[in-house]
Amino acid sequence: MTFEDLGLSTRLLDALKEKNYSTPTPIQLQAIPLVLQQNDILGSAQTGTGKTAAFALPIIEMIQGGRTKINSTRKIQSLILSPTRELATQIGDNIHLYSKFTNVNHAVIYGGVKQKRQVNLLKKGVDILVATPGRLLDLIQQGHINLSHVKSFVLDEADRMLDMGFIHDIKRLINHLPDNRQTLFFSATMPRNIVELSDSLLTDPSHIAVEPTSKSTDTIKQYVYYTDQSKKRDLLKHVIDFHTIDQALIFVRTKHGADKLSTFLNKSGYKTDSIHGDKRQNYRQKALRAFKNNSVQFLVGTDVASRGIDIDKLPFVINYDMPEDTETYVHRIGRSGRAGEVGNAITFSQPEQNRQIREIEKDLKLSIKPITDQPFPQKEVPMPEKQQQKLNGNGSGRNRKKWNRNKKYNTSKKRRSRA
Ligand code: AMP
Repeated sequence: MTFEDLGLSTRLLDALKEKNYSTPTPIQLQAIPLVLQQNDILGSAQTGTGKTAAFALPIIEMIQGGRTKINSTRKIQSLILSPTRELATQIGDNIHLYSKFTNVNHAVIYGGVKQKRQVNLLKKGVDILVATPGRLLDLIQQGHINLSHVKSFVLDEADRMLDMGFIHDIKRLINHLPDNRQTLFFSATMPRNIVELSDSLLTDPSHIAVEPTSKSTDTIKQYVYYTDQSKKRDLLKHVIDFHTIDQALIFVRTKHGADKLSTFLNKSGYKTDSIHGDKRQNYRQKALRAFKNNSVQFLVGTDVASRGIDIDKLPFVINYDMPEDTETYVHRIGRSGRAGEVGNAITFSQPEQNRQIREIEKDLKLSIKPITDQPFPQKEVPMPEKQQQKLNGNGSGRNRKKWNRNKKYNTSKKRRSRA
């Protein structure tokens, strides 16, 4: 199947030729025809899959095809919302390349810089607007932006958007969009709050999922340490010494957990920093730079904040907290062993999480090597299945926490089966 077969016109095909894109990626194969048919889309895919072209190409195609008078004032026909200015810029760069032989134009707006240049661009008329939520709302309130002509609305990296606390901004923005629009919703992970948000925004969406490939885990040595919750910190110190780990990305479940573990490691003498959605973009970039140039030894992060981290030859990834599903496991350990290097992934499993290890092994058709010769083995009795079911049905206090956590796994499973 080629880009020609997907219904794109010569002007776009010429741009793709120039970029040397010969074959559509799986997400492009699925999404482009659906977007052209004006469907809503719920897409489960991360950056690196060709996702940007999957929504940008058909949007440019529709705007170009729908233009009647070349000189009529441009109105914003497509809004693409991005959580960060880096992603917004990247999307803008792609649109620039794909649309270069068409009469479709675009603008990118984000906060942290003066608004004058952005306002001037908007005044000239824009077809596609790529924006981060805060600046977009600001400029709407000042009367510089009118979204009432938007036909396609793209919410990119929705999970990161919520992790960065943009939920209220998104809800406010929706009120400025026409009801009869097309919505394309992309997220790398689909936790419960994302599924809820997508339900409220999409009408009868087509589901697209780009499955994780087990191939990407081939060059990574994978180990599991069976331990108890209360021993994980001591085990981490043991693992760092035992494997003589100089540098590792350590994954945890919550922002609070990331800060706590980072403080603990610093107090234990390891230079450590943490990245998560509550930290400002500048801070995160600084932490990442310090990690890359080895002035910080360990970086503790949540899934969403650590996405897209691209470090050559990262030797170790540690799953201090269990990933929420196989897809997340693959994303996490894929940070190690990049560029053909052999990497190592170490996962800690508490008793009630042992079945998740089995699930990951089953999904990826491999076995994760257990390290049994270690000083902090599981002693707490694994939670029996019956007790877990009971926790699923009621809940107050601590039980509610576990119940919510289990529910999260169920949601991601449901999504996998829906996709
Ligand atoms: P994205 O997931 O949109 O960030 O894209 C990841 C990278 O893949 C970008 O560098 C794109 O330029 C590139 N890319 C996207 N589609 C194709 C394609 N069909 N063939 C080759 N490269 C592509």
